[in-house]
Amino acid sequence: MSTHGEPRSSADHIDLVERHSAHNYHPLPVVIAQAEGVWVTDVEGRRYLDMLAAYSALNFGHRHPDLIRAAKEQLDRVTLTSRAFHNDQIGPFLRDLADLCGMDMALPMNTGAEGVETALKTARKWGYEVKGVAPDRAKIIVCHGNFHGRTITIVSFSTDPGSRNNFGPLTPGFVVVPFGDADALETAIDDDTVAFLVEPIQGEAGVVVPPEGYLARARELCTERNVLLIADEIQTGLGRTGATFAVEHEGVRPDMFILGKALAGGIVPLSAVVADEPVLGVFQPGEHGSTFGGNPIACAIGREVLRILRTGEFQEASRTNGEYMLKTLAEAGVPTVEEIRGRGLWAGIQLVPEARPARKTAERLLGEGVLAKDTRESTIRLAPPLTITREELDWALERIIPALEAARE
Ligand code: PLP
Repeated sequence: MSTHGEPRSSADHIDLVERHSAHNYHPLPVVIAQAEGVWVTDVEGRRYLDMLAAYSALNFGHRHPDLIRAAKEQLDRVTLTSRAFHNDQIGPFLRDLADLCGMDMALPMNTGAEGVETALKTARKWGYEVKGVAPDRAKIIVCHGNFHGRTITIVSFSTDPGSRNNFGPLTPGFVVVPFGDADALETAIDDDTVAFLVEPIQGEAGVVVPPEGYLARARELCTERNVLLIADEIQTGLGRTGATFAVEHEGVRPDMFILGKALAGGIVPLSAVVADEPVLGVFQPGEHGSTFGGNPIACAIGREVLRILRTGEFQEASRTNGEYMLKTLAEAGVPTVEEIRGRGLWAGIQLVPEARPARKTAERLLGEGVLAKDTRESTIRLAPPLTITREELDWALERIIPALEAARE
């Protein structure tokens, strides 16, 4: 530490966090001080290639110039109005968001978890006021292995004991079915079912891709039984899988999108629920809200995100570089790898039991200048910014494949 007690080295910073932060995370021992594009620099000046991109919040890379410009311009104009008044960014943002999703309207919030909560509230309210479900009977179907955030209601239907334990009493009204099993979904739907909430590809579970046709069949079932199909595209959306939305791969239009993470380019939190008027139209003034939801800074950056997404270049880059990444990993035939799952620039590399925990490999990669993170003990997840070049991807793969090969050591 310096004489003023200010932290200087990575070790100083980590020590402060160890002492003063709740231990609700177990970060890799790297202290990032600066970033640009796909590269980050730690406080000692070491460079790393970011192969995680803040869980897809940084789909457009660190400090994308167009997004930073939009943020700076808005900082000099107005930062917050609350929804007590209008601001001149929210209207154009919502129009462009609705347009991107091909839907009527949106409800802006901040974090992903708030977006999910908003979708759950919308579905219940729609169930009572439009579908005609009896009071307090509404059921929402969710999937085994889901991850939708950390509020009490959301962890109430998590199947991960660590996310739920000792947070009770939990919120009732949820039914869990296996992910990828359309027959189980069909069986679970009854007259009180108001919604089916699903990640088109499960992210935190380890990039789990459902069998082909699953989402299309879920769409059919939801339509037949008057159940809202809610696609949580907080992690899968906005280009990550090689399309604007992951549901597009099966030609599915959900009744609600939940978006977050990259919606304001990883600069500020911004989430939203997007739907048609018969669904989101259930809200009346005073029934839901957030002080920061729809703030002018988030909306100004969000408008720019929507503009760059309309070019299609990020979706295309994700598709082509993603195919290359997944093919290169598969062709390497690494014996410590049990399975490689993924779509677009997104991979879950599941290690054989003897090569676990996957954190060891994440730590080895850190030493090689590659930032990636383990999930659920068994899997290394790769999700670089979609702006990554082929050369940068090769640079990362040249380090990742040997690190996987060494995973048993
Ligand atoms: N939904 C999905 C699919 C997610 O992956 C996440 C976060 O990883 C969330 C919701 C929660 O988002 P947040 O961490 O912004 O609350």
